[in-house]
Amino acid sequence: MFTRPVVATVALTTLAAVGLAVPSSAAPSSGTAGSIGVGDKVWPELGNGGYDVLDQRLDLRFAKGLASYTASTTLTARATQNLSSFDLDLLGPKVTGVRVNGVPTTWKTTPQGELVITPAKSLRKHLRFVVRVDVRNNLPQATEKDPFPPGLQRYGGWVQTVNQPSGARRIMAVSDHPAQKAPTTFSVTAPATLNSIANGKLISVRKHGDATTRVFREGRKIATELIQIGVGPFTVLHRTGPHGLPLRYAVPTAQLKEIEPQLASFDRSIRFMEQRLGRFPGTEAGAYVSALGGELETQGLTLMAADAMTKEGFENNGTAGVVLHEVSHEWFGNSVSPRRWADLWLNEGHAVFYTNQWSAAQHGWSVEKSMRHTYEEAGNDLLVNGPIANPDPSTWKGDAAPIRPYSSAAYQGGALTLYALQQTVGAKTFEAIERAWVHRYANSNAGTEDFIRLASTVAGRDLGPLLRSWLYSKTLPAMPGHPDWKVGPA
Ligand SMILES: [Zn+2]
Repeated sequence: MFTRPVVATVALTTLAAVGLAVPSSAAPSSGTAGSIGVGDKVWPELGNGGYDVLDQRLDLRFAKGLASYTASTTLTARATQNLSSFDLDLLGPKVTGVRVNGVPTTWKTTPQGELVITPAKSLRKHLRFVVRVDVRNNLPQATEKDPFPPGLQRYGGWVQTVNQPSGARRIMAVSDHPAQKAPTTFSVTAPATLNSIANGKLISVRKHGDATTRVFREGRKIATELIQIGVGPFTVLHRTGPHGLPLRYAVPTAQLKEIEPQLASFDRSIRFMEQRLGRFPGTEAGAYVSALGGELETQGLTLMAADAMTKEGFENNGTAGVVLHEVSHEWFGNSVSPRRWADLWLNEGHAVFYTNQWSAAQHGWSVEKSMRHTYEEAGNDLLVNGPIANPDPSTWKGDAAPIRPYSSAAYQGGALTLYALQQTVGAKTFEAIERAWVHRYANSNAGTEDFIRLASTVAGRDLGPLLRSWLYSKTLPAMPGHPDWKVGPA
């Protein structure tokens, strides 16, 4: 989380509604309705059933002054059942048109964030279809009273994206679950006086009047929670990382000299992780250093706060460790994405675990001491929102609800589980498990049971009882090899 400055109110531009909308009740059709979600216990309404997403194009056009935008989603999908209707996730933006295979189609929205689309003819199982959804939305500036919502965030001439875990559906229609991640093309149209950036490689730039359109392509699958779309007065620097890996950094033009020296921390973090896991899983890496900030592992383009990247901010905020944490997510979370949100410990537990390793190497700290501290001081308090791999959504209330299941169980609990595994199998076998994990499930999805199975195969012994005792318990088990560690207060 990051603090927000007090900002002046700016009048919002309202766009005229475009008239493609055909809201109506569903026409009878053969087939059955796709389910509202992918069957995620933590987030039942996220993602959608009845189809696989094969590819998508997200087209955003920001108005002058950035106070509003229009957006089009073009999703290529394959039906996994005969579909009488299907959903996308959408919460907030106004729908201005829906087409299936080019034909205007009936639709309705629900307060739970479903856009229910009913084509005139049902969609046949196994066949591909293309759905296009056009929306428009306002993009008010954050104020102290009304802080940044999840999704697109604007302050002055800056726009950034903070979706984790479910902000993408607040920007435009998507299938908003990592299980439905897909290769994505981004087209961003912004005022020509500003720069723009998104995940993936820049493939074209076109100026038209007082706007510029940049098109980016992320050819690997990308989860909607990892999307980054940025607009602002920044300059993009290009560097080369290990084995020719392209690095790019979008940096506030006014702070270029101040921030540039600290950017090398990304290169160093990539090298540190590559020594332990093998090659970086992406085709490019780098950061979007924004005036707003809030660190987030948006794929191939980590979001960083400008004030944490100046020399002073870097030292005062321990930013090098934050960079390592976010870079480690390129392996754990971005390349190997969770099947369900209960698998989040595989992202955050790994990020904390490797940040601990890095801190130990950098500062001469003891990993054992740090793990012991977490185990004894935080103890069972870690599990207030449920077991490590079985978070309980009913415990997330109020402000915490939109960020479920991000809790200490996933972060510190996940890291303690990995440490328990390492203590049990030894450092060499543990590294072999980790390398096998990021290789086997690269550019894919995997969950807790996949990890248990793979760890057992690599170690040549059944690690199910050990790992399940950590992952599904309401209290932390004894730490293998450290019977003297005592769990803190429950
Ligand atoms: Zn993280």
